[in-house]
Amino acid sequence: MDLSNAVKAPKMRAKDIPISAELSKQLKAIIGCNKLLLGKADRYAYSRDRLPHGLYRIRAGALPGTLPSAVILPESTEDLISITQFCLANQIALIPFGAGSGVLGGTIPLNGELIVDLKKMNRIIDFNEINGTVTVQAGMNGMQFEEALNKRGFTAGHYPQSIAMSTVGGWAACRGAGQASSRFGKIEDMVLGLKAVLPNGKLLDVRPVARRSVGPSIKDILVGSEGVFGFITEITLRIWKKSLHSEGCVLAFPSLQVGFNALREIMQSELRPEVIRLYDAEESHQRTENIAEFKEKPILCIMKFSGLPELLAVEKKLSIEIAQKYGASLTSLAPYEHWQKTRYQSYSTQWQTDDYYMDTVEVTTSWSEVEAVYKTIAKEVKVIYPELHFGAHWSHIYPEGLCQYMTIRLPPMDNLQAHQLHLKLWDKIESICLQFGGSIAHHHGVGFLRGRWMKEELNEGMHLLESLKLALDPGNLFNPGKLGLPLANGAQGLTTNN
Ligand SMILES: Cc1cc2nc3c(=O)[nH]c(=O)nc-3n(C[C@H](O)[C@H](O)[C@H](O)COP(=O)(O)OP(=O)(O)OC[C@H]3O[C@@H](n4cnc5c(N)ncnc54)[C@H](O)[C@@H]3O)c2cc1C
Repeated sequence: MDLSNAVKAPKMRAKDIPISAELSKQLKAIIGCNKLLLGKADRYAYSRDRLPHGLYRIRAGALPGTLPSAVILPESTEDLISITQFCLANQIALIPFGAGSGVLGGTIPLNGELIVDLKKMNRIIDFNEINGTVTVQAGMNGMQFEEALNKRGFTAGHYPQSIAMSTVGGWAACRGAGQASSRFGKIEDMVLGLKAVLPNGKLLDVRPVARRSVGPSIKDILVGSEGVFGFITEITLRIWKKSLHSEGCVLAFPSLQVGFNALREIMQSELRPEVIRLYDAEESHQRTENIAEFKEKPILCIMKFSGLPELLAVEKKLSIEIAQKYGASLTSLAPYEHWQKTRYQSYSTQWQTDDYYMDTVEVTTSWSEVEAVYKTIAKEVKVIYPELHFGAHWSHIYPEGLCQYMTIRLPPMDNLQAHQLHLKLWDKIESICLQFGGSIAHHHGVGFLRGRWMKEELNEGMHLLESLKLALDPGNLFNPGKLGLPLANGAQGLTTNN
């Protein structure tokens, strides 16, 4: 793939495009004075998400993209309809904002877009114990949502590492997956219905039902839409009785290959551990240095089982038996306990603040290709930069395949060199993944950074997506430049030069 455009020197552009006094007066008249933030400090706070590339730019004294022209804090669906109508009338672009925990630049303004932060829409609207469903406003914080369910004896079963710093709407908008996806499914399996304000200002209501057979799923146009098709305002999710019983176990495998074989057999035998995690030698070593069994069997596997005690006992026994058939040994629970303790912590601020260039890339691969995908990527990234830190683990396991989650880390170096290397590493990883028939993204979504691989990922499907965008949002006002779709007129997007 030709990256020359991506690393060209950027043209100078206005990075601060505040909304005009007249437009802000009109906005205040529509939604109220206390829902609009215009100060530079506030706008600066909303100019980034958790895209590592954006952080590198901030470290170098630059903005990730531009400042938003204003930040709006709606409190209701009516507010969102008014904001959408105002933006339509004035042809102003906007970005739906959950909690800004996205790691691909999904909420980064590229041309002074308005940020519309949904966090004040944070109530549980309906809890239906009989149907096992909950309806929640999109801006509710993930951890507060889960804790509210737990108080009633239920769980949503969606536990992303970022649960405390993301919103339920953001989960759906990014088509995310939690750490217990092997058991409870991914967000698209959990969302039964939703409401959204579309780019034309109309309200879409996909009523929650167990299933329907009425053509393609409308709900799934919004799940994964990353703000380009409107605001998701309410979501109805499937919920489960929260299990009071859980047990972990830790296994040491002699090699990655047998680890893959064992995990595949577990999932294809209809066993559903709540969590299964397998680590490569590099990542295993970081977690098992002082445990004797790992000297001979260096590959770490963590499993967690939950549910009715009788079922849990059987699933655990059968899963361990399969692992042992492939040469695994049961070991000390220390790595499991450490994972439990740190599972919702944000990743390595140490490396980020010490000027390292660290990032994570998650892809989906099939069982038949996973070993080749891993080996090829591990080899090729070192060709790009031999001293690169590279490690991987597999943390979302399905009967058909799995998610490979990789960490790449460059040491402190010249910024321009690091940015070019960083992009080359991404390009190599995504290209290898496509070459072996996998998907470029398992759960982090596309945002801005992954846009350049969308055509290869979706082929003719990209044309469908573009046509849908044109039909729903002809003015390109909702989150322009994301999901591989066109930038707003005059916008340049992110460059890698500073
Ligand atoms: C340390 C860390 C760990 C992470 N772990 C996981 C993980 O385990 N699993 C996982 O899936 N992800 C993970 N992520 C990624 C991220 O947290 C998720 O993508 C999350 O779902 C984003 O939610 P948010 O509310 O922060 O969305 P934001 O970052 O605010 O927005 C993300 C995108 O969704 C759009 N959007 C947000 N809300 C709405 C809405 N209501 N309507 C329409 N569009 C909307 C935005 O426009 C943007 O394009 C992790 C991120 C970090 C930093």
